[in-house]
Amino acid sequence: MRTPIWQCPVNERDAIRRAYILRGQYQHVMEYTRTKLGEQYRRFKKCWFEQFSWLEYSPNKDAVPCFLFQVKKTHYPTFTVNGFRSWKRVNVGKRCALWMHVGGPTSPHNNAVQSVGVLMNGSGHIDKVMHAQTSEEVNKNRLRLKDTIESIRWLCLQGCALRGHDESSSFDNQGNLMEMIKLMGKMNVNINNVVLEKAPRNEKYTSPDIQKIFCIFLLRE
Ligand SMILES: [Zn+2]
Repeated sequence: MRTPIWQCPVNERDAIRRAYILRGQYQHVMEYTRTKLGEQYRRFKKCWFEQFSWLEYSPNKDAVPCFLFQVKKTHYPTFTVNGFRSWKRVNVGKRCALWMHVGGPTSPHNNAVQSVGVLMNGSGHIDKVMHAQTSEEVNKNRLRLKDTIESIRWLCLQGCALRGHDESSSFDNQGNLMEMIKLMGKMNVNINNVVLEKAPRNEKYTSPDIQKIFCIFLLRE
């Protein structure tokens, strides 16, 4: 149900990835669907979450990992778009489909895992090398992201609209989300120092696309 990364605006993909990462894997424990595969009924097992920390279970589609760094729809559709659900191919020794998906040190999966580390620690990535992020900047980004997410969470919970009629900074009332972010800033100087006009141009985390995506994953909780 998530918006695929390749459908997100290029400039906002990293922010959206960080939000998904902070939100954590979707590892809901529930009564999983039983499917008849050959002679036997099989289903997803919750112990696979411990074995494969990256694994997610989609109640609509089943396991959908390796989602964050796919930039084309056609790459590895089993694990990104369609969902993997051949349960009898899990934990069958060397041929275990989940281990095969993980693959060797330079596999697409392991490259994605590495990219998560780079994205969250802000070093090593090619555009981060050109603009080396200090740990202070990383902390600022996280605080700003958290502020946006918590504001959206509260507004969604209260059934309030996020957006106003006019969100330009010259307008007195910029809508619930912007006003909430401003209010948080008034109460906490650390937040005030990182949000809205204090934020770097592409990392304000307040565009309509980002709001929509954050809403979708907060509403699943
Ligand atoms: Zn993967």
